[in-house]
Amino acid sequence: LLPLGVAGAAFGVFGVWWLSRRRMTLRSELTSAVRRGEFSMQYQPIIELDTGICVGAESLVRWSRPDGTSVRPDLFIPVAEETGLINALTDHVIDQVIQDMRELLVRDRSAHIAINLSAGDVGSGRALKVLSAKLQGTGIHPQQIWLEATERGFIDIQGARTSLAAARRAGHCVAIDDFGVGYSSLQYLQTLPLDALKIDKSFIEAIGTHSATSPVTSHIIDMAKTLGLFTVAEGVETSAQLAYLQARQVEFGQGWLFSKPLPAEEFIRYHEQRLKQ
Ligand code: C2E
Ligand code: CA
Ligand code: CA
Ligand code: CA
Repeated sequence: LLPLGVAGAAFGVFGVWWLSRRRMTLRSELTSAVRRGEFSMQYQPIIELDTGICVGAESLVRWSRPDGTSVRPDLFIPVAEETGLINALTDHVIDQVIQDMRELLVRDRSAHIAINLSAGDVGSGRALKVLSAKLQGTGIHPQQIWLEATERGFIDIQGARTSLAAARRAGHCVAIDDFGVGYSSLQYLQTLPLDALKIDKSFIEAIGTHSATSPVTSHIIDMAKTLGLFTVAEGVETSAQLAYLQARQVEFGQGWLFSKPLPAEEFIRYHEQRLKQ
């Protein structure tokens, strides 16, 4: 047994070393990527479930390296958060969304685009000040920019409360993202000024599977309704899930059943098509 234990420990140490090395590489690559602007945005249509109309999109950042490979946001966003690079990245996201979607948003006042904000972005209030400054003179109404505040790693709940309240006063719609996945969901729900709740795709996946998560999904929907929040279901992949969400009067949904995230131009075409239906 002893040699096995030693081998295991050695392997464990190696694993930790390898992971931290990989993170360090990612971190230095990310720094130059921010400088060189290797990021672009994709837009995933958000559908009003009882009409099928496309009401807007969630903007999702994409990192394409010069060698043509790409890195998934759930890998690099946490590193950006840890290193403070998230500030520059969020500014870039805001610029890009305005550049890509300005024309559409000015032409169609009912359309909106959701922007993801990290815990630090929300807690410090910095990103929201940057956003309102950048929106000045664009003709885009604050009502057309929805904000998705993740509950992953929230630090400064008082700061978040203050800045989200200001964002709502300015006209933005504020949604709590990744609800139920983090540690303090219920506390955030109780403390933060919110308009909407995004039901994480792990809860949508559970619909109709007889798993123990499924009743939780139902309770999340009930809770949102009790609190007067509207709901957006994420990761809708099957028509059975759609039928369930429609029956439960979940207002909006997004997912592969409707569309994958699209480059700006393709989303604009998709949006126009869906309006004619
Ligand atoms: P999220 O905010 O929960 O975004 C939803 C994720 O689900 C996206 O992954 C989206 O592509 C994926 N998705 C959408 N529909 C489906 C579906 O039907 N099935 C499945 N399996 N997946 C679906 P993505 O684009 O890889 O983003 C991952 C996470 O990275 C996001 O999760 C968000 O937390 C973060 N992120 C993405 N863009 C940004 C950004 O611009 N700023 C910040 N701060 N975070 C971002
Ligand atoms: Ca989101
Ligand atoms: Ca989400
Ligand atoms: Ca999620």
